[in-house]
Amino acid sequence: MAERTLGGALRAQASERTALLCGDTSLSYVELDREADRVARHLDSGERIAFLGKESPHYYELLFGCSRSGAVLVPINWRLTAAEVEHIVHDSGATVIFADRSCAKAVPEMPIVWLEDFEHWKASAPDGKPVESGPDDAVAQLYTSGTTGLPKGVVLGQRGFFEVRAALEDNGLDWLDWRADDVSLVGVPGFHIGGLWWAVQGLTAGITNVIMPAFAPAEAVRLVREHGVTITCVVPAMLRLMLDEGQSLQGLRKIVYGGSPISETLLARCLAEVGCELAQIYGLTETGNTAVCLPPSEHVPGGARMRAAGRPYPGFAAEIRDAQGKPLPAGEVGEVWLRSPANMLEYWRNPTASEESLVDGWLRTGDAGCVDEEGYVFLRDRIKDMIIVAGENVYPAEIEGVLAGHPAVADSAVIGVPDERWGESVHAFVVTREKATARELMTFLQGKLASFKLPLRYEFVEAIPRNPSGKVLRRVLREQFWGDRDREIN
Ligand code: ATP
Repeated sequence: MAERTLGGALRAQASERTALLCGDTSLSYVELDREADRVARHLDSGERIAFLGKESPHYYELLFGCSRSGAVLVPINWRLTAAEVEHIVHDSGATVIFADRSCAKAVPEMPIVWLEDFEHWKASAPDGKPVESGPDDAVAQLYTSGTTGLPKGVVLGQRGFFEVRAALEDNGLDWLDWRADDVSLVGVPGFHIGGLWWAVQGLTAGITNVIMPAFAPAEAVRLVREHGVTITCVVPAMLRLMLDEGQSLQGLRKIVYGGSPISETLLARCLAEVGCELAQIYGLTETGNTAVCLPPSEHVPGGARMRAAGRPYPGFAAEIRDAQGKPLPAGEVGEVWLRSPANMLEYWRNPTASEESLVDGWLRTGDAGCVDEEGYVFLRDRIKDMIIVAGENVYPAEIEGVLAGHPAVADSAVIGVPDERWGESVHAFVVTREKATARELMTFLQGKLASFKLPLRYEFVEAIPRNPSGKVLRRVLREQFWGDRDREIN
């Protein structure tokens, strides 16, 4: 794998094969390569450009155009409010925003290129040959979703997008193998590392990538069947919704999943109903996506490793450390630290946060977990989401995982609420697919979980609030119980 820049890897693929398919629009590799060059002629090295809109080939023309010019793409979640968009635009110092008209209300006062005028904008490119930027230059700046605080700009270098594949190829491992005739579905949005990383993997492997403007389960299933999708990357919530559509997905040969905890029930269901290979990935925006992988061979129902997030790729590392940063022995729960050659370059214009998170090449993840004797990482949950019941640590993901095994439970989310007696108690929000009572759920959990982990209350709701990468918005759920005090615990 010679090329470690997005633009260079794209050029190496240049062929008439369809690179991107999105609704009625498609672009071949040759066309994408040419359009990236036209974009690049407009941009300067180091310049930040923002993108606010649903997924489309334009997004990727801009991304590869950035790689060809040294500019940096700042994709913004189109569901954010005007104030949130303004924060990101201001923080990034973006010189121009490329926006979809449907997002007009959220676009701040600044130079704008509406996507409907994109062709015209490209055609007005000044002459001159774009300068290809290097593997160590930044290419994208993604904002954390802010589930744990104000969004921070994670600056990602070009090289990072190639590290996982290089580590696997160099070591003869085929966990994330691509085949020449693969067709990939990109359902996670590109403003999240999961979607961006997955699309870049497909585009630099030269296969056809079916892009969804916005994820909808029935449409995802339709696309899989219509376009003969063979491989995709999803978050667990998407996977569950796709399976709930009740249609065959047997054309899929591999599903890569990650981004939030998955229940063994959902994994077993997927193996039984789709029967394809599964690979779990674990990582953060800050680690340039995945640093740890659970390969297909470890997906054995009932097997001990089904609960693991996986093992670091060769050349990557995971350690468990205490609050002082001292490594802990195998089996002990502490904070997961990851060392990845794809780690972010920095948090943009935030040296304090960068120094706190990046220590000697390691990234503090904020996740609680342990590592077994063979180096497999077992995640508990985010440290900040941990509930403390009378001094005992309770991780929401564990309870949600067990609840998922009840046939009536479609989805659930667990939080800690103030409790005079115990400090905090466990509160479960539950979405049911058929009628169930709190008593039934309580009986189901008893014996499967220690008594201090059992929810004291069950609240039946229509839906669990989640962000577009499938993470439970616990802050929204906690609001009614903690009010202003949430700032202290969050
Ligand atoms: P913020 O830091 O503001 O919450 P974010 O939610 O966008 O931003 P991401 O970088 O998208 O953060 O998500 C990283 C987190 O996702 C990890 O720290 C971990 O908690 C969770 N995660 C990722 N992969 C897995 C996985 N395979 N299993 C369980 N949790 C996962």
